[in-house]
Amino acid sequence: MKRMLAAVLAAGFSGLAQAHGAHEHGVADLQVAIDGGQLSIELKTPLDNLVGFEHAPRTDAQRKALADAEARLRDFPRLFVLPAAAACELKDVELESPWGSAGAERAHDHKHDHGREDSHSDMHVHYSLECAAPAALNEVQVKLSETFPRMSRVRAETATPRGQGSATLTKTRNKLPL
Ligand SMILES: [Zn+2]
Repeated sequence: MKRMLAAVLAAGFSGLAQAHGAHEHGVADLQVAIDGGQLSIELKTPLDNLVGFEHAPRTDAQRKALADAEARLRDFPRLFVLPAAAACELKDVELESPWGSAGAERAHDHKHDHGREDSHSDMHVHYSLECAAPAALNEVQVKLSETFPRMSRVRAETATPRGQGSATLTKTRNKLPL
């Protein structure tokens, strides 16, 4: 049963990737899945939404901007508000930056096969949580646009025991039904 749900989730999300995968500044993609007590939240956003540039950081100010953005992305309670009754606990945050953490040492190798200053870059973040009372997960408040003003829209997709859904969130319309 669990495996079936996972397959359904995967199918739903690959459909999403085809429909909405385009890199569009100002827009981010969010996928929220509930499987038993596991809550998974995946964020994919153009780096421009976070720091206003997409090249490897070259100056101290740019390195600091990237490190600050990464710190904010790891600050789950600042970005997402879950119903307290669900009793969710953050287990892991995986952050995949195009140049490694804070863009530091690996600044040269990674993206630069593509070589061009105008190439685009995305940041991926995966939050894993465990919830003691997942039935209480009826919505999540998403404060990404509040935290990152350049991220004006968040295209959200959900896959939960209640079914699949989608919504476009903004700074003021930030509640995603689950
Ligand atoms: Zn871009």
